[in-house]
Amino acid sequence: MNSTNHSDVIIIGSGPGGATASTLIAQRGFSVTLLERELTPQYRVGESLIPETYWTFKRLKMLEKLKSSHFVKKNGVQFVNSSGQLSAPFYFYEHKPGECSQTWQIRRIEFDSMMLQNAREQGVAVNQGVRVLDVLFNDDRAVGVLVKDADGNRKKLFADVIVDASGQSSMIINKFKLRAPDPSLNKGAIWTYYEGAFRDEGKNEGATIVLSLKNSKGWF
Ligand SMILES: Cc1cc2nc3c(=O)[nH]c(=O)nc-3n(C[C@H](O)[C@H](O)[C@H](O)COP(=O)(O)OP(=O)(O)OC[C@H]3O[C@@H](n4cnc5c(N)ncnc54)[C@H](O)[C@@H]3O)c2cc1C
Repeated sequence: MNSTNHSDVIIIGSGPGGATASTLIAQRGFSVTLLERELTPQYRVGESLIPETYWTFKRLKMLEKLKSSHFVKKNGVQFVNSSGQLSAPFYFYEHKPGECSQTWQIRRIEFDSMMLQNAREQGVAVNQGVRVLDVLFNDDRAVGVLVKDADGNRKKLFADVIVDASGQSSMIINKFKLRAPDPSLNKGAIWTYYEGAFRDEGKNEGATIVLSLKNSKGWF
């Protein structure tokens, strides 16, 4: 961990949210401490990128890394209706031609590692194996965090700004019980992975295929 216990910004969580925020802030010359409870990136769901992420990758200096990666290129989406009828492919370059009309299907464990390495290269102090136990407040202002490192040592770290990018752990939301259910988002998701599935070729290789259920009750 950093030798000093004060940074301009502390970010909790090194998923895509934390890695993005930390890199963009470090690019502006601020000292950023990123705290991640896991020792290495772990399996997470969320593999299919959308075209507009291109502009964020450009700002992050991630584009060349993605272009030279082995990730499957995604040029569009194809829809199948509830009777099994296949739509014409929806190619991003036909609807919004430009630099960003191709994106990728990524593996999170590799992608998250690339994003973290990219953050390090741009000056972020990345600390893995450091769990944030609590966010410390001075009146209504977050001023620091209480952490436990991989050896079980507890320490307080301070910063001018604390960013909660802890994903579904939602540290600050849970601390203040701010979670409010939205009935219109009352949905569930189940996911799995298949081996030996048929894959289209060429520009359809990485298409996301969306199969609709009857009466618009869902999709997979
Ligand atoms: C079924 C499903 C399918 C999805 N499909 C897609 C998709 O196709 N494309 C897409 O773009 N998105 C998809 N998503 C969404 C995607 O998974 C999330 O948007 C993304 O993971 C959020 O990133 P994040 O950085 O906010 O959080 P996370 O990736 O969850 O990262 C949070 C990090 O914080 C760390 N952390 C948590 N608590 C602490 C603590 N106390 N101290 C230190 N570190 C901590 C965690 O270890 C983790 O590394 C899908 C989600 C689901 C559920």
